[in-house]
Amino acid sequence: MTDKHSRTFTADTPQKIGETVNLYGWVHAKRNMGQIVFVDLRDGFGRVQVVFDTQNSFREQAEGLKPESVVKITGQVVERQGKAINAKIPTGKVEIQATGLEILNESETPPFEIGQDKAVDEELRLKYRYLDLRHDRIHANLLMRHQVVNFIRNFLNERKFTEIETPILTAPTPEGARDYMVPSRKYAGSFYALPQSPQQYKQLLMVAGFERYYQIARCMRDEDSRGDRQPEFTQLDLEMSFVTEEDVLQLTEELVTQLVKTLYPDKKLLQQPFPRLTYAEALKKYKSDKPDLRQDKNNPDELAFAFITDFPLFNKEDGKLNSEHHPFTAPKPDQIKLLDTVPEKVLSTSYDLVLNGYEIGSGSLRIHEPALQQKVFEILGIDAKTAQTKFGHMLEAFKYGAPPHGGIAPGIDRLMMLLQNEPNIREVIAFPKTDKGRDPMMGSPIPADTDTLSELGLQLKQTRNSKP
Ligand code: ASP
Repeated sequence: MTDKHSRTFTADTPQKIGETVNLYGWVHAKRNMGQIVFVDLRDGFGRVQVVFDTQNSFREQAEGLKPESVVKITGQVVERQGKAINAKIPTGKVEIQATGLEILNESETPPFEIGQDKAVDEELRLKYRYLDLRHDRIHANLLMRHQVVNFIRNFLNERKFTEIETPILTAPTPEGARDYMVPSRKYAGSFYALPQSPQQYKQLLMVAGFERYYQIARCMRDEDSRGDRQPEFTQLDLEMSFVTEEDVLQLTEELVTQLVKTLYPDKKLLQQPFPRLTYAEALKKYKSDKPDLRQDKNNPDELAFAFITDFPLFNKEDGKLNSEHHPFTAPKPDQIKLLDTVPEKVLSTSYDLVLNGYEIGSGSLRIHEPALQQKVFEILGIDAKTAQTKFGHMLEAFKYGAPPHGGIAPGIDRLMMLLQNEPNIREVIAFPKTDKGRDPMMGSPIPADTDTLSELGLQLKQTRNSKP
């Protein structure tokens, strides 16, 4: 006899035939079929069909159940026979003959139907994201995301990597976007920057002697959102000391190959080892540095990974040289001599991992000598004084036994989007922003009131004209 208080998850009911169980969850659907009422009960891990038949003293109450209400149902697990078996759900071989029903919290009619694949307005979905997340598809995306991150952690932990957290309130790290700035109350007029990536910290951790670091890192970049871009996103950020490009690429390839084979056995990994193309070859052959190498470009179950290597160190815009990757990227050793004469021609040690036409991650070997780093800053037009103010800590750290090092940072959101066959990274992030960078549920960004502004020592230049 089941203890009155013990709980069974709906997913475990097929193993409990003949037993009386207590189930807790949400009324996913209800069908009044004449004398019999069927309730599909949903919990965090699945659902099961519950039957209230004619003689059931709770039948009438069940008939009036409102969708999405929270209930406790007690009942006996019975095997379904013949046509009653539902092959579409994992618990489809059983059903629950209810002997008890308790409404724990009645739900109002939700603003949209949960679990229907009808298109719901994006704004409405995000305003009620906690309801949207009840949808099987989105729920499954987040469960798989957890598994993927768990797999990554185990894979790296087994290879002597250490997971280390780095600050969120920091100083700017250039990754080619604008910084989000957070005003300091104690130092009015000064700001923290939210990290565009943990790039500088991970390099400093190499100087600190950790040798193999990773972090499931949140990165913030103030740039326009689009389907595969959000103001904040997650990277698997990793860095290793005493490695070659080859070491980083091999580790990355092994990680994603094993991940796909273990967690997505039905997907087809196209070419192994992953094809490698230099940036110049990719542009020449595919007119893109993130070519889609699938045989059938419409088949999301084909996974065509590739590495693009030998990116130029700089790109030129309006006559000015900018870092193609970031200013800490090392040139190829045989190219260093060209820095003084034709810097725009210098090839770097940076590489991208691409998948089905998307850039999944970038990385490189890094500069670890102060003089070379200083030279690259100069070429980028960062004078010695500015370099000292902005990156003095890096130049200094490189003086104290900085090992050669390199790494990569695959984006978790884009990878999940492709693995889950989703068209947009919002579908694999629990609480994303709209494509205009707003969170309709929390109402962010919020206008700061006068008291807050004054406490922060800030004054607005003009009346707001772009209310979120
Ligand atoms: N920090 C780089 C990025 O965010 C990745 C790396 O170089 O490891 O693209």
